[in-house]
Amino acid sequence: MLNIEIIHCRDDNYSYLLYDKETNIVSIIDPSDFGPCDKIINEKHNKLDYILNTHHHFDHVEGNQKLKEKYKSKILGSEIDKDRIPGIDIALKEKENFKIGNTSFEVIFVPGHTKGHIAFYFKNEKIIFTGDTLFSLGCGRVFEGTNEQMFNSLNKLKNLPIDTKIYCGHEYTKKNLEFCLEYDSKNEFLKKKINWISSRIKSKSPTIPISIGEEKKTNIFLRCNEPSIKNALNLDNASEQEIFSKLRDLKDNF
Ligand code: ZN
Ligand code: FE
Repeated sequence: MLNIEIIHCRDDNYSYLLYDKETNIVSIIDPSDFGPCDKIINEKHNKLDYILNTHHHFDHVEGNQKLKEKYKSKILGSEIDKDRIPGIDIALKEKENFKIGNTSFEVIFVPGHTKGHIAFYFKNEKIIFTGDTLFSLGCGRVFEGTNEQMFNSLNKLKNLPIDTKIYCGHEYTKKNLEFCLEYDSKNEFLKKKINWISSRIKSKSPTIPISIGEEKKTNIFLRCNEPSIKNALNLDNASEQEIFSKLRDLKDNF
């Protein structure tokens, strides 16, 4: 059993503390900031075995060095980012399986937002940490890769079992919802989420985790083959990937 604690960092970042009860192994995903992460680690377990980074951006790795120094943790990240993830000890390869305590995860390579972005898929627990690739109702900006890469990366995630829970790197759900509603206005599943999302945000509660199945019904970036969305963009005959690129461009300026 893997226990997951959501840690709020900076304005809208999420770091995640993972605790494997049987083996007492403690890990953290994307320590965005030393202070809030250290506070919870200190209170809960006072140890940290592993630090896992989805990608090299500062708002996902800034806690790395200080946490490593304090708790003598091992830092894991993509082999592609071995020169830019601070303090990295273990370079992970695509599709590699890695064991933390009794639980193991698979490395899913999801380039696009950055060249070396990876997601951590805990198959038995039905959980995935998607960093800045897949958000609830959205996806990350394409900074280093191509739209094609991002599209393919999202398709990999889309094909996971529908009851897989997504834990992403940021709380962007409300803004993402507004964008989805703009071009997928007839989507009943989407409309049903409006009140729930507003109340979660109002009470400063996270809108995650969310399931792959739910995202497939509501996240416009996973729905690029929907005729009604193509029509809303005046691109009825465009390919799924062309729709994705169009939506990504529109979202960048939304
Ligand atoms: Zn990022
Ligand atoms: Fe980020």
